[in-house]
Amino acid sequence: MLGFAHGALPALRMALPLAALCVAVAALTNARSLSRRLALQGRRMRALADAAFDGLIIARAGHIVDVNPALARLMGVGPGWFDHRRVDSLLQSGPPSHLEPAAEQRLILPDGSLHPVEVVARQVDDTAEQVLAIRDLAPSKATQAQIDRLTHTDLLTGVGNRQALQKSLAKMISMADRAGRGFALLRVDLDRFKAINDAFGLGIGDRLLVQAAQRLCATVREVDTVARIGSDEFGIVQPLTGRPADAAALAGRIISEMALPFDIDGQLVKLGASVGIALYPDDGASGADLMSRAALALNRARKDGHGTWRYCEPGMDRLLRQRQALAHDLGTALIENQFSLVYQPFFESDSLRVAGCEALLRWTHPRQGMVSPATFIPIAEECGLIVPIGLWVLRTACAAAAAWTNPITVSVNLSPVQFQQDNIAERIGAILRETGLAPTRLELEITEGLLMDDTEQAMAMLTALRRLGVKLAMDDFGTGYSSLSYLKKFLFDKLKIDRSFIRDLDDSADARPIVQAIIAMARSLHLNVTAEGVETERQLAYLRQQGCRFVQGFLLGRPEPIADLRWATHAEEWEAAAADAGEVAAHRSATGD
Ligand code: C2E
Ligand code: CA
Ligand code: CA
Repeated sequence: MLGFAHGALPALRMALPLAALCVAVAALTNARSLSRRLALQGRRMRALADAAFDGLIIARAGHIVDVNPALARLMGVGPGWFDHRRVDSLLQSGPPSHLEPAAEQRLILPDGSLHPVEVVARQVDDTAEQVLAIRDLAPSKATQAQIDRLTHTDLLTGVGNRQALQKSLAKMISMADRAGRGFALLRVDLDRFKAINDAFGLGIGDRLLVQAAQRLCATVREVDTVARIGSDEFGIVQPLTGRPADAAALAGRIISEMALPFDIDGQLVKLGASVGIALYPDDGASGADLMSRAALALNRARKDGHGTWRYCEPGMDRLLRQRQALAHDLGTALIENQFSLVYQPFFESDSLRVAGCEALLRWTHPRQGMVSPATFIPIAEECGLIVPIGLWVLRTACAAAAAWTNPITVSVNLSPVQFQQDNIAERIGAILRETGLAPTRLELEITEGLLMDDTEQAMAMLTALRRLGVKLAMDDFGTGYSSLSYLKKFLFDKLKIDRSFIRDLDDSADARPIVQAIIAMARSLHLNVTAEGVETERQLAYLRQQGCRFVQGFLLGRPEPIADLRWATHAEEWEAAAADAGEVAAHRSATGD
């Protein structure tokens, strides 16, 4: 038994997320087996296991090697009971694969009865051992669900209440900080409601509110949250994918939906709505800030004559006008040859041999000079120009790569909007034939958002692309709202860990287990991994140690015009220079070229 009489780590006596507990124990177990004589590591692991409220099993090839006291307690058995037993004799549907997020399961008790638990499994790196963490769900389940329902629901309309909205704001803030993407808070006020409520009486008012809530829920997407936060006021939290204009679009839809008459027993009643919008992080750093900024915006909308929406700042409107001007200029950028590509190499992490180059788009604006793709790609997506621009990128990158004598991969970013084109696979097939590039040398980088938006269509597209023989990489992994299970389903070859995680490796303690777990899980799915945004030797060393296959970042190479990358793209020059690939890369980073 992992039995230490005294829990040495009281700080751990809290409800750690099950997956984090599992990863931590797996990491410590690994440390233990690497250096068995490091008694400190061993003690730490035991203390962690003992202090945990959750059951822990360490198993090897399905056989139980060790358990902690919490598990014995939960099963009502003594420590010796586990000797010579197998994990699958304890869990009704067998041990989960170590790729899966926490799954609900039944624990088989000695008397044969079944007990609800949550189970997470993680492989201990480089050993055949597996850690399973098991959380008792019985006491919490029923009561917790009921409490949550009562405290977070508006009883009249069935949508969330103010408290639910506050909770959702807090959750979105931490997700947005991690993902580097913002979200919007919309406050929706029903015009004329008070007058109608007074005129027709409370019964009608209540039924109007119920219908209004239903309409709102039907207007937002599934990822948005709707709550009733005042007598006739609703709040909506909307995750943004880089486009503040999405919030305006939603506000517009809400206003037109609410302008349609409501039917109360055959009597048609017209309401209407005004909307105030606050954006995170631009307009406020906390939920409370955002609530009051959105209220200000709502006041402006009401003052400007109801049935309309406003951002909280006049500055926001100016920003929108600037974007419109850029959208206009983008219209002629392609025919006026204002686009170019730079290429950023990526490397095998252990040999630092170049493995491929990612094409990145640049726009030289006639008056403003270089405009960042982070600025203009969302605009191009909004107005549909991304389709011809994206094809130009593909054609240019494939033609360039076809001329390289070093047959490395060329990676091209695909916008989700390009997938709404039915014939994207055909177009790419034609470009490959036209340029003579072998399909296996083209890798398409796709962001998670796409898969969330329209799963069936996305699946059909990705399958068509796979049939061409090109490779698929999931870009910016970890910033979206989906999980590794998507990758399994969509037949990806590779995932790129978002650079926000890599940046945090140096200074934030919780980034390491996350990166470690992503790499371990990807490996068991037979997915390659690229870490992007590698900027320091320490990050590189850690990623190598974890077995991350590819690395990319300013430490090893910045995006450059293709003419400056002959050392990578031309086999002869590479062979000449790469007597020691590590030295080349080290030299490159030291001289910063
Ligand atoms: P991305 O696909 O994640 O590309 C990587 C971005 O990270 C590039 O920015 C690159 O210059 C930057 N980067 C690379 N290594 C490091 C590093 O070590 N540290 C830091 N801080 N940054 C690093 P860039 O070129 O500004 O591109 C921004 C985004 O614009 C890209 O993100 C991609 O989403 C989009 N993009 C660029 N070109 C295209 C394109 O041709 N088509 C589409 N649809 N999107 C593109
Ligand atoms: Ca990319
Ligand atoms: Ca990326």
